[in-house]
Amino acid sequence: MSEKIAVVTGASRGIGRAIACRLASEGIRVIINYNGSVEQAEQVQRQIREAGGQAEIYQCNVADFASCETFVSDVLKTWGRIDILVNNAGITRDGLLMRMAEEDFDQVLDTNLKGAFHMMRFVSRQMLKQRYGRIINMASVVGIAGNAGQANYAASKAGVIGLTKAAAKELASRGITVNAVAPGFIETDMTAALSSQARDAAAAQIPMGHFGTAEQVAETVAFLASDAASYMTGQVLQVDGGMVM
Ligand code: NAP
Repeated sequence: MSEKIAVVTGASRGIGRAIACRLASEGIRVIINYNGSVEQAEQVQRQIREAGGQAEIYQCNVADFASCETFVSDVLKTWGRIDILVNNAGITRDGLLMRMAEEDFDQVLDTNLKGAFHMMRFVSRQMLKQRYGRIINMASVVGIAGNAGQANYAASKAGVIGLTKAAAKELASRGITVNAVAPGFIETDMTAALSSQARDAAAAQIPMGHFGTAEQVAETVAFLASDAASYMTGQVLQVDGGMVM
């Protein structure tokens, strides 16, 4: 997989960070996208470079259509191609449906679902020209099974799965695969916000009995980005310790 360019959104922290490091370890040049955490993004870049890899950082709010257009066009001006796109950026704004503010619904949909659409909208044109591309979208088991208190998040992740399958069908004949990864509970800042009671309740639903790591999710993303997955498209791979089956 040498001399390839990968764009990973939301790679300043958590799962995105692990994905960036994992892809870079294969000699892929990684563009680390972040929104607000510039210092963390610089740290990821430093870590990759110190390990002998190639990494750049780029600020872009994926919820903004025009910013994504500029982001993709800047990457193409500098590096000429995008082989792998990982739409990982995501947020939660949890709350019960009947109390949920419209803004909390919109922000989650704008980042998690429209963010993936924006990036695919601009990157797919280049991948069509290349007749090659790997798109991996971060869904969640919550998008498959639902979760009380996460109507906005579940809707966004179910949307990501639909988006993945539609794009897979549109792009398959041009050498572009589009797949999704659906993690269960993974140890990151996102789940660090859970109370110890909520953590115990979550762990009790997982046959393996514990949360997963960002690195375990990154392994699955690396597989889907590799030639080993060249005949797979439109699939949703769960990395959830058996939580949803
Ligand atoms: P996290 O630790 O909270 O990190 C989120 C990342 O997304 C950060 O790098 C953040 O960047 C970035 N981001 C947020 N809004 C953005 C925006 N508008 N534009 C660009 N980047 C943005 O989350 P995580 O747990 O690693 O989650 C990563 C993905 O996995 C998300 O899609 C999440 O829904 C999904 N997921 C997570 C779990 C889990 O248990 N952790 C389970 C299932 C699915 P800045 O800090 O720079 O803003």
